[in-house]
Amino acid sequence: MSIFVAPLQAAPYQHLFPMPTVAFHTLGCKLNFAETSAIGRQFLDAGFVKTPFDGPADVYVINTCSVTENANRKCRNIIRQAQRHNPQGYMIVVGCYAQLKPQEIAEIPGVDLVLGAGDKFRIMELAGDFQKQTHACVHNSQIGEVQEYVPAWSYGDRTRAFLKVQDGCDYKCAFCTIPLARGRSRSADLAEILAQARQLAAQGIREIVLTGVNIGDYGKGIEADLSFLDVVQALDAVEGIERFRISSIEPNLLTDEIIDLVAASQRFMPHFHIPLQSGNDEILGKMRRRYRRDLYADRVARIKARMPHACIGVDVIVGFPGESDAHFEDSYQFLTDLDISYLHVFTYSERDNTAALSMPDSVPLQIRNQRSKRLRMLSGKKRRVFYEQFTGETRPVLFEGKDEAGQMHGFTDNYIKVVTPYQPGRVNTIEACQLAHVNAQGLMELAPMAVV
Ligand code: SF4
Repeated sequence: MSIFVAPLQAAPYQHLFPMPTVAFHTLGCKLNFAETSAIGRQFLDAGFVKTPFDGPADVYVINTCSVTENANRKCRNIIRQAQRHNPQGYMIVVGCYAQLKPQEIAEIPGVDLVLGAGDKFRIMELAGDFQKQTHACVHNSQIGEVQEYVPAWSYGDRTRAFLKVQDGCDYKCAFCTIPLARGRSRSADLAEILAQARQLAAQGIREIVLTGVNIGDYGKGIEADLSFLDVVQALDAVEGIERFRISSIEPNLLTDEIIDLVAASQRFMPHFHIPLQSGNDEILGKMRRRYRRDLYADRVARIKARMPHACIGVDVIVGFPGESDAHFEDSYQFLTDLDISYLHVFTYSERDNTAALSMPDSVPLQIRNQRSKRLRMLSGKKRRVFYEQFTGETRPVLFEGKDEAGQMHGFTDNYIKVVTPYQPGRVNTIEACQLAHVNAQGLMELAPMAVV
């Protein structure tokens, strides 16, 4: 797959800004971060200099998400922020929201170019000479026609790299707009994934997070007869990367073989993020999920039997149409009893063109929010109980950057977030550290003289 890159010599905008600057803002998931990074490399190859988003830039690129309820409001706010820094900045909006609501975005004052899923990687070609427009120009191919797979990986933005291995989704979950925003399930070439992993290793990356929309569905759209297990097996043999993580995998696609391979691997970390969405079978059926809760409980039990120290994160949606108090309490009890480490709680919101939109028995907003609050509290308790199991133990920590409080943070192999006073020399190192105690913020503090 070749990506269009404007040749530096012939760049049509060089007369406009001889030292052109570009700033990026990403909303949403790890896949979006990987893709923003891939778009960023096109700009760098064309002679642009990357600059922070909260300052003046010649070009602003905003990569949007379709999951967020307030995509429009967020998008407007971010555009307004950028305009304050440079009212003449050329404004490009790409990504899932741009695919789903291109006209809505085009009408936001200041937007010059809107690119949907199939067009965002043609950004240099479609932006032309980056001249400010009176009316935004929109390119968004019909999503059914988008067959192309464009590789992407993040590098340089953070300690961990996100490597895209799959895109799109063929499932039809009743609440979800992602298949409409990203199209059919399609996969990266395995040789290309391995080459990208080796390249990231050569650039000093210690940890790669495998990302996609439905990565367990890997294998669609390529000629070779391969599954996600083959990807895990092949990456496990790549020298130079100490850590791999699987960002998120559907429970029905998380096979015994994948769990066993991770359990036996030195490189794949004992950490799984598995969407559940509801712990009540009737609601799972209405959501059109492809499993029931027994299968989910079985996956958790197998992981814990093979890796008692494994971290397991769970996505849950509250307030789906028809979710009665009894359904919610049933789901809450199921989650309480499950040996998991944290929850990501989403409050259901109505989305255009989804099956759920026409379902009866909408849950009042106030009740959705109450349920969300209860699950977030349950998540806090679960995380603390999980962390406290490991106090006093020594585990490997990959140190990342400075956080807002001026502390440095990092993650253990099993995804315990640790904090310690900032020492620049420790960034991007993996050290065996003794875990001391869980602080008031719910983060793990390291023992004094923590380096063993
Ligand atoms: S598996 Fe379901 S929730 Fe996930 S992207 Fe596909 S349709 Fe959406």
